[in-house]
Amino acid sequence: MLLITHPECLEHQMQPGHMERPERLAHLLSHFETTGLLQSLTVQVAPLVNRDLVKRIHTPTYVDGLSKASPVTGLVRVDPDTAMCARSLNAADRAVGAVVEATRQVMSGQHDRAFCAIRPPGHHAETAAAMGFCFYNSVCVAARYALDELGAKHIAILDFDVHHGNGSVEIMQSEPRALVCSSFQSPFYPGRFDQGQWPNVVLTPLEEGTEGSEFRRLIEAEWIEPIRAHRPDLILISAGFDAHRADPLGGINLDVEDFSWITRLIVDLAKESCGGRVVSALEGGYDLNALALCAAAHVEVLK
Ligand SMILES: [Zn+2]
Repeated sequence: MLLITHPECLEHQMQPGHMERPERLAHLLSHFETTGLLQSLTVQVAPLVNRDLVKRIHTPTYVDGLSKASPVTGLVRVDPDTAMCARSLNAADRAVGAVVEATRQVMSGQHDRAFCAIRPPGHHAETAAAMGFCFYNSVCVAARYALDELGAKHIAILDFDVHHGNGSVEIMQSEPRALVCSSFQSPFYPGRFDQGQWPNVVLTPLEEGTEGSEFRRLIEAEWIEPIRAHRPDLILISAGFDAHRADPLGGINLDVEDFSWITRLIVDLAKESCGGRVVSALEGGYDLNALALCAAAHVEVLK
């Protein structure tokens, strides 16, 4: 199995004390290394994405506007929760590059599955808006690339971050070849694209305080049948781990075993429909230890 990351993903920094901090990824990778998990994987460094691929899902005006606004020193705020330093867009280019490259290798059969250990995250970024710590929607860029260039006829994007993948719904709402399933605490941030009805979108809102047993019941009831019916050629995961009970932002009570469980379910569905092809990309997760433990459990099952 493939793990793609890049040290430059650590260079994106927002204001001191911001939850989405470099230590998240550093601690995750150090945990993977000290437990021997990293040594059992094929590890590669992420290329920079070709921005033309990014512009297939984000407007050129938005992408070029972000570049023009990128600061030489200090921070530029692009959303109440999101700021750019001089190195932020480079980190974002590595993050998208990781997911695109992982998708290319998985679709070509070099690896069955891949995990992208990246930041900044991507699933809140909409067609023309940075939002919620996200600049480019990495998973949607890779989905579009797989549909356009890699022969995928159907794609599933599965998002179990505690926050709704509003960007992925907004970007894919009129793309019937993409199925988007998102579970999320509700009502909760960001409160966008979480109410409507789209034939290719499954929304699974979770009440604050939801326990693992109820989470599993809802996912089984609401996700399995649409995923089977869609017959994806590739499953992309927006893998946020902030629905863990220890997370300081989320209010859902999942445990490490629940992330193993949903990963097993996804891998089994991928084996049914597409030879097990799964590309997973890190999204949220803000308790350093819970993030590292959940991501490790996730990767152990993907392996
Ligand atoms: Zn999140």
